[in-house]
Amino acid sequence: MKSYTHMTPASIAALQDIVGKKFVWTDRDKLIPFEKDEGVETTYFRLPEAVVLPATTEEVAAILQLANREHFAVVPRGAGTGLEFGAVVNEYGGIVLSTERLNHILEINEDKMYMTVEPGVITADIQREAKSRGLLYAGDPCSGDSCCIGGNAATNAGGNRAVKYGTTRDQIYSIEVVTPTGEIGYFGSRLKKVTAGYPLQNIIIGAEGTLGIITKLTVRLLPLPKYEADLLAVFPTLETALSLVTALPKADISVTCLECMDNAVIRVVADYLKEALPYTDEGNYMIIHLDGRNEDEIDTACMAVDEICRNQGALEVFVADAGKVWKARKAFTEASAAECPIAAMEDFVVPPDQLEVLMERLAVIGRDTGVLFRGVSHAGDGNLHLDVLRRGFTPAEEKEKIAVFEDKACAVVYGLGGRISGEHGIGQKRKKLFAKYTDPTAYALMKAVKKAFDPNMILNPGKLFDID
Ligand SMILES: Cc1cc2nc3c(=O)[nH]c(=O)nc-3n(C[C@H](O)[C@H](O)[C@H](O)COP(=O)(O)OP(=O)(O)OC[C@H]3O[C@@H](n4cnc5c(N)ncnc54)[C@H](O)[C@@H]3O)c2cc1C
Repeated sequence: MKSYTHMTPASIAALQDIVGKKFVWTDRDKLIPFEKDEGVETTYFRLPEAVVLPATTEEVAAILQLANREHFAVVPRGAGTGLEFGAVVNEYGGIVLSTERLNHILEINEDKMYMTVEPGVITADIQREAKSRGLLYAGDPCSGDSCCIGGNAATNAGGNRAVKYGTTRDQIYSIEVVTPTGEIGYFGSRLKKVTAGYPLQNIIIGAEGTLGIITKLTVRLLPLPKYEADLLAVFPTLETALSLVTALPKADISVTCLECMDNAVIRVVADYLKEALPYTDEGNYMIIHLDGRNEDEIDTACMAVDEICRNQGALEVFVADAGKVWKARKAFTEASAAECPIAAMEDFVVPPDQLEVLMERLAVIGRDTGVLFRGVSHAGDGNLHLDVLRRGFTPAEEKEKIAVFEDKACAVVYGLGGRISGEHGIGQKRKKLFAKYTDPTAYALMKAVKKAFDPNMILNPGKLFDID
């Protein structure tokens, strides 16, 4: 195992010189919130040696230069809503670099439709600022009220509207980055086209803070759609519900969101919210959101969706109360955990047309391995979030049973052309399976890229890959 130095009074003093005494925290009470993220596996909980809160790009650069000189690990962190312990220190120790103070909206250009922000700005604030000017910031992770745009970029966050507008990578024109060795670089542009070397921004986005610390972002804004509609289509089986995933694009209907809740999930959510949801006993939901600039266009699309749903076997199609239906969808995580503690969370992604096959095969694997789970999907993206329940096995069996389930599930996912994570990332949790199932050539090149960016392995070491 590679060895790192630990914080000494001298290195703490050097950090204080960079950011000011007040912004280097070492008291245990202040470190505790940083020992975890929103993941459930307590084995990854670990206190950082210090939390450092820089306020400028230059301070971030100076911290990384110091870390390279002294050889301590630096873990970037936004709001800590990640689920893979990417923003938590591991066996290498070191400091958490929080972007909490890098939280300013620097420029909003309404005419040219872009916004430049620091990484610690909360995603919902960007959406709100854009909306108040008649514009749309289309990134929309379900955690938007609490996560930061820097974390979204580092994980290439998806979310509900990715079907139409793409993931966070698609919303970003350019980024300012402090490299792992402490240089400041600018990647990407607002150009419509460019063939001028490697598009480095595209590998830093989604690299989970292993290739650089993002210190500024210029994001794309769009005209705000004036009209919206939400439909709730109820199907008798999960299979008929998921058939919409291929039926809608085939009919050339572009939806903004296409989310699936199966019957087990509906029951759990209805119980948790203490609300009567339609067809609680037998329904499987597809929630369909449409947006556009023209009322007629939306009406026509709604009618077409209604017809397709009925052709695919829908029991009923409602024009939904948006507040109610999205409250139910977003309540899944809490409702699921309230009904039964969660042992593991999965984030499989397959081509959307393979989601139905994936669900069938996972049901078989679950039966064979004795692992119980339930899940919701960003169905239009082929992205399935599964909660593995802490039920059906003893605590002693848990680790092994889940490992067997995950391995078999990954074999199916990769066999269908999928990947282990659609939007949450690899972090610390998925490293083994990522190594096992990733194409060996691609895997070796990814490690070589990490080495080229970070020769001293200072930035977020041991995330995505083990260190050789
Ligand atoms: C209830 C709930 C709902 C969620 N819904 C979604 C969803 O719909 N879609 C989705 O994609 N995710 C979702 N997530 C996961 C999580 O919210 C996202 O991954 C989010 O993008 C993380 O942002 P953050 O600011 O909390 O990042 P953190 O958790 O702080 O960090 C995440 C990763 O990014 C790195 N990082 C953070 N900031 C920077 C930076 N400035 N530069 C470089 N690296 C950095 C960290 O090192 C870490 O590896 C959800 C989580 C919860 C708890």
